Amino acid sequence: MPEPDSRSPPLLQVSGLSKNFGGLAALADVDLEVAKGEFRAIIGPNGAGKSTFFNTLTGLYKADAGSVRLDGRDITGRSPHALARAGVSRTFQITAVFSALSAQENVQMALLAHMRKSWDLFGVARKFGVERAKELLAMVELPADAAERAAGTLSHGDQKRLELAIALASEPKLLLLDEPTAGMAAQERLDSIGLVHRVAHEIGLTVVFTEHDMAVVFAVATQISVLHQGRILAAGTPEAVRANEDVRKVYLGESIDA
Ligand code: ADP
Ligand code: MG
Repeated sequence: MPEPDSRSPPLLQVSGLSKNFGGLAALADVDLEVAKGEFRAIIGPNGAGKSTFFNTLTGLYKADAGSVRLDGRDITGRSPHALARAGVSRTFQITAVFSALSAQENVQMALLAHMRKSWDLFGVARKFGVERAKELLAMVELPADAAERAAGTLSHGDQKRLELAIALASEPKLLLLDEPTAGMAAQERLDSIGLVHRVAHEIGLTVVFTEHDMAVVFAVATQISVLHQGRILAAGTPEAVRANEDVRKVYLGESIDA
């Protein structure tokens, strides 16, 4: 995959995005530009607005102001479904899979949805996408035996792998991951983000993820944006963000020197 290209228009361009909850400005005038091939981390303390940013960006919440462009095209306020069509896929802070279906069936479902077909337990759809589902599950390194098990019985780490395969089923250009390593132990977090990083590199996917573990952030991020009280406090390379005085004040007591 080529290095992030600063000459072509940004893949994602967010301008002045704002979201209020009653009197609370959860997002205030947020700008973000992400170039193709970037692996961008959005960091910030709990309650900084990271999930709200994703939810507003992906049309789950209606923005009070601002615009979102993908490849130069205005996608502001599009439904999550329409966004998936446009090439944006996301995962949530809480893992979302059909727990009674097998891992492989979950991916088949996602492939069906992408192809606008509907699930038919007893018909042809049952066999739809079997090969592609297996490929995707292999890509995310889900063990073959786990692919046949009910998704609800998989370990947390394997469910996260499955969730990634589901997100990839729609062949996104841009993948948004909200706290992909939440609920994992330190080493598992690094392994998990390492997998996403390898897959993204392999298929030329641009990734924006939120994360509070600085070791994870600095292990993989090519660019970092720091949210604080709904505003962008700083953005730039990991080195620049780490050296930023405002960022250091917000993260006082936490290690950003990892
Ligand atoms: P983060 O993901 O960075 O921890 P959130 O985006 O979840 O932060 O929350 C940002 C702020 O917005 C918090 O003060 C939170 O309480 C508030 N908030 C988030 N979602 C809602 C909602 N649906 N209704 C009201 N307030 C919300
Ligand atoms: Mg959050």
